Amino acid sequence: MPPQIKINVYTSDKLAANIYTFQAKNHYCLKNFNSKLKSQRAGGLIIYRANCTVALQTADCVPLILSHRQEPLVIVLHLDWLGTAINLTQKTLNHLTRKYRLKAEDFRAFIGPSICQKYYSNRGWKGRLKSLIFKFFGWNTAVAKIANRWHFALAATVKQQLLLSGVSDVTQSNQCTYCDNLPSKRRGKQNGQQVITEVTLTCNV
Ligand SMILES: [Zn+2]
Repeated sequence: MPPQIKINVYTSDKLAANIYTFQAKNHYCLKNFNSKLKSQRAGGLIIYRANCTVALQTADCVPLILSHRQEPLVIVLHLDWLGTAINLTQKTLNHLTRKYRLKAEDFRAFIGPSICQKYYSNRGWKGRLKSLIFKFFGWNTAVAKIANRWHFALAATVKQQLLLSGVSDVTQSNQCTYCDNLPSKRRGKQNGQQVITEVTLTCNV
């Protein structure tokens, strides 16, 4: 049975104890599921195990869940702008196809709510640097310069990367964390609030 994916909004401290989650601190490192640790600091988690629930929290970054059609294998990735630019998605798929001898086309992908291009922007050196990095890795379509700001399309780029990697079964949420009133770090900043509640995707493996 394919994993059941739900979008919930929880505060971090209210996550049920039996949910396996991770903190996105080291955004470019993947961890294999370790039953001793309920919380990992990584950019992604690989779970090869049935009957468990895994949660992924973001508040503007792109949450990506990959599940295999036959194996009890689920991968959750927390993709910020740099994780998107360096194509952590493809790196992960390459790792899986090599390590487990699986095919990219046997994965299904679910892209959860993230911030839209209109509200994910930077000006000044930050915007210029980010745009150069996206372009360096070949993701020119991720960047749009409007007036003095650079705008970045994270979810659309992740979708493009999935399709190029051979994952064609892609479901994309049409919700934006900023516009649709989901927990959004950027909207919070605008209103002088610190967002501590995050969007959580839970997936029953
Ligand atoms: Zn939006």
